[in-house]
Amino acid sequence: MTQRIENTDLLVVGGGTAGFGAAVAAARAGLAVTLLEATQKIGGVMAFCPGMPWGGAFPVDRIIGGLIEELSDRLQAMEPPAAEKRPCSLENFGPEILYDPDLATLTMFDMLAEAGVTVRLGATAMAPTMLASNREQAGARSGAALNDAGPTKAPEAHAGAPRQKIAEVACYDRNGPFIVRPKMVIDCSGDGDIAAKAGVPYKLGDANGNMMAVTLSFHMIGVDWRTAFADADPYFTAYARQGVAEGSLHPDLSQLYLMKGFHQGSVFCNSVHVRGVDGTDPAALATATQEGRRRCHQLAQFLQKRVPGFAGAHMAHLSPTVGVRETRKLEGLYRLAGQDLAQGRKFPDGIVSCDNPIDDVMRADGGMTHNAALKKGDYYTIPFRSLLPASISNLMFAGRIVSADPLAFASVRGMPQCMAMGQATGTAAALALRDGMAVQDLPAAQLVAALRAQGLNRIGPAR
Ligand SMILES: Cc1cc2nc3c(=O)[nH]c(=O)nc-3n(C[C@H](O)[C@H](O)[C@H](O)COP(=O)(O)OP(=O)(O)OC[C@H]3O[C@@H](n4cnc5c(N)ncnc54)[C@H](O)[C@@H]3O)c2cc1C
Repeated sequence: MTQRIENTDLLVVGGGTAGFGAAVAAARAGLAVTLLEATQKIGGVMAFCPGMPWGGAFPVDRIIGGLIEELSDRLQAMEPPAAEKRPCSLENFGPEILYDPDLATLTMFDMLAEAGVTVRLGATAMAPTMLASNREQAGARSGAALNDAGPTKAPEAHAGAPRQKIAEVACYDRNGPFIVRPKMVIDCSGDGDIAAKAGVPYKLGDANGNMMAVTLSFHMIGVDWRTAFADADPYFTAYARQGVAEGSLHPDLSQLYLMKGFHQGSVFCNSVHVRGVDGTDPAALATATQEGRRRCHQLAQFLQKRVPGFAGAHMAHLSPTVGVRETRKLEGLYRLAGQDLAQGRKFPDGIVSCDNPIDDVMRADGGMTHNAALKKGDYYTIPFRSLLPASISNLMFAGRIVSADPLAFASVRGMPQCMAMGQATGTAAALALRDGMAVQDLPAAQLVAALRAQGLNRIGPAR
């Protein structure tokens, strides 16, 4: 069989919100972009938990701008409108965007097509082949450009190590293996598959390796909103505790996360969490998905029988697979820390703003918490250096694999932020390839200026 080889400027691995942002931004900037997505749908977690609100899009009530704003505007301009800004019913979260998930997916495919991205669904990136370094040394010239932007915490093991390069990536689809030879790679796989195999150091979960619970979501359709949401408690605690006490609900359902969906009478149920699952292990995910289905069915029956307003409703849009919040956190040139959030740091190379709470979900035997990350009315930014490995000159990463400590991670992982991280790396890829430089050498000011021109708000040096 002849070997299939595809050449491209940029390979984006993973078509979640981060991969979407990276691919559209890079293709609009003139690159030939190949986007590989292992499943049959764009969106990643957004597709696995359909209808999940875009949270964190409005830090201190101003939209972060860029692609999430454009996508949301396109949906809102439809007749009838397919998205709207609403207050979030949960504590410490700002306003969010609710949308029709099918029309959102359709529009994302449209935006990718309009930008000229080659979208390969059902195609998985397996492993990179590394090239020995050119003459550059990590931490040499790169330090000059990016250190100006603030303190760099390069992983010690890599400081001064020779830079490497990804030469090609082995992939497969149903027709068998193929090779992609890209000039640049952005890992948006959510799990950092390719970056980890390329040798980027990472941590799984928190300091003890505990990852947040995975979740299977569903909708209840035909709910009488007025009756169901008459009670001010957003977590339906009294009903939930009763259900747990009498054995009709799993003990982890002592609070129910039930939110009005986009369409009248629909309720998004983001409540069924399965603990202790390693999201990088397909067998563990399959088991958790089956267990989650059972608990969702149980919860739907409980709502119909016991919670006012749900009697005539039915279950729909059950997740095809569990949504995974947290697996690998890659080690970047800068690791965003909880302290940075608390101080509301605005980095000179900040590429997106955020004021999301510390949204922690059942790590080990922990509970659900969403305590405020910083003082009310303030925000922080995510630095570009958190998306850069120390010693691979043509690799970036974006989305929930951002370099962050467990506390910061619990805040930065909202879909609008993931999309903007993707947009920043896609834009950076175009700038770095244009100027023939390693991504670590790209002057932060140039990237920030390009992103501001694309409508990203509150980024770069505080002003
Ligand atoms: C249950 C749950 C509830 C959440 N609630 C909210 C919320 O209400 N609001 C909010 O804004 N955020 C929420 N989040 C967080 C947010 O959804 C995620 O952090 C975000 O979607 C991550 O985006 P991503 O693109 O980085 O990764 P993902 O969405 O995980 O996308 C990665 C994509 O890469 C693909 N892929 C993986 N490996 C490969 C490979 N080797 N080759 C090709 N493709 C590959 C996957 O199939 C997937 O499509 C929630 C997350 C979960 C799990």
